[in-house]
Amino acid sequence: MPKMRKKCDLPAKDCVVCGRPFVWRKKWEKVWDEVKYCSDACRARRGGGAKGVDLRSGGLGR
Ligand SMILES: [Zn+2]
Repeated sequence: MPKMRKKCDLPAKDCVVCGRPFVWRKKWEKVWDEVKYCSDACRARRGGGAKGVDLRSGGLGR
């Protein structure tokens, strides 16, 4: 992981779809370890239209 510090020191990761870095959001506080997409649009592109965050199947590695 890059050591760059964002403002407020929020954690960040790269979107697996578009490759852009995105930072921690409040709505992800409980699922941050599972978040892989920067947005719903990217999640839809990757998930092929699956609804909701695919947390239960864990089908993306791990
Ligand atoms: Zn993205």
